Amino acid sequence: MNTYVVGNLKMHLETCRLRDEYVKRLHELSQSLTSEQRSALFVCPPHVHLEKFVTKLPALTIGAQDAHHELRGAHTGSTSSNALKSLGVGCVIIGHSERRGAGESLETVCKKVQTALLSGLHVIVCVGFLSEGQDEESIIKSDVAAILEAITDVVPAHKHENLSFAYEPVWAIGTGKTPTTHHIQTIVLVIRKEVIRVLGDASKSLPVLYGGSVTTENAQQIVTESTADGVLVGGASLDPANLVQMIKMFNK
Ligand code: PEP
Repeated sequence: MNTYVVGNLKMHLETCRLRDEYVKRLHELSQSLTSEQRSALFVCPPHVHLEKFVTKLPALTIGAQDAHHELRGAHTGSTSSNALKSLGVGCVIIGHSERRGAGESLETVCKKVQTALLSGLHVIVCVGFLSEGQDEESIIKSDVAAILEAITDVVPAHKHENLSFAYEPVWAIGTGKTPTTHHIQTIVLVIRKEVIRVLGDASKSLPVLYGGSVTTENAQQIVTESTADGVLVGGASLDPANLVQMIKMFNK
């Protein structure tokens, strides 16, 4: 199985010049990747740049950072999963801590995951948004169960394989701090167990990624020791060379 690298560019690249420089550099660097390595690299720019990324980087999977939980309707400022799919976008990040912190509920996350999967997008759903004093393992277990139970009766089984989880402890995002690899492994296993319990053995290979202050220095150790299926990278993805270096390191 491939080991994935997902770059979350957040609200960065805030001018067309910065966007164009990034796209040009990533295009050049990605020429040195094998087709297998390219297929494991996902890059998620701000919505306004999606079309440019999709057009200029056709060999990579381009992702959005959110989508609305309804497919259509009067939702000013929002984006439909169907519109993303039709643009050539391949995946969407749902439930990122920076959105949960801005008020997105677990219920909304569940609906967004349903809608995006039904649209045919690959979904990377983030878990690890906790308040002070909450028990991490039990919150993650119940969040994962709620997300999976929301899709079982609504999303046809053949689309379940388009789901990935990313364990992103909120305190590790953008802080330079990471949990121990043993701790990451514990949570990765909690998520994998819930996937098998709710969806059954057929879904046991759904990827479970880790995200939170991943760099080219710590990425290999995190993946090897935690058994995560890849990484979700925020800050370090601002240099496309880091994404390319990680994907080569993981998939030799
Ligand atoms: C993220 O935004 O999902 C993230 C993991 O950020 P960073 O790598 O900067 O911690």
